[in-house]
Amino acid sequence: DPRIAKIASSIRVIPDFPKPGIMFQDITTLLLDTEAFKDTIALFVERYQGRGISVVAGVEARGFIFGPPIALAIGAKFVPMRKPKKLPGKVISEEYSLEYGTDKMEMHVGAVEPGERAIIIDDLIATGGTLAAAIRLLERVGVKIVECACVIELPELKGKEKLGDAPLFVLVSSA
Ligand code: 5GP
Repeated sequence: DPRIAKIASSIRVIPDFPKPGIMFQDITTLLLDTEAFKDTIALFVERYQGRGISVVAGVEARGFIFGPPIALAIGAKFVPMRKPKKLPGKVISEEYSLEYGTDKMEMHVGAVEPGERAIIIDDLIATGGTLAAAIRLLERVGVKIVECACVIELPELKGKEKLGDAPLFVLVSSA
């Protein structure tokens, strides 16, 4: 698909952010490129429309950028998967490990029903720990994960292996 190369080239790489040795994939430049942003959303919508998906779960923070336009286009609800203590209602939470220590992800109770079909959206999969926590949260409530979807994958980190049976769809693989 010729759109993929343009999307890939719209992503800026910032060395040594947020710390030395990290090559940060910066999607804010993709958002400035109206064609690349539109094509990114269109590629996901083409993949997910008509598949009985009623939930688009977006991972804070950049899943909140890509998730809502996809949800609106396919007629699904958008469910934010948030950092701890941000959601005001009753939540369920899942802990996951970071390079140093752990973090938590939370979702509102009642946002999804058992038997619903979901996709989970984030900008990037690295080790896969973040998406794995999102999968556990939704599966605990009886939601079927149709697929995880990311703009970028860092394949060397083998994050896909952490996702269990949930398939992964990515637009761009980055060395
Ligand atoms: P993982 O849990 O797969 O190791 O890390 C993925 C999470 O960290 C995602 O929520 C993603 O937004 C963030 N992340 C890690 N590295 C990068 C990066 O280079 N660029 C961007 N945009 N996000 C990153």
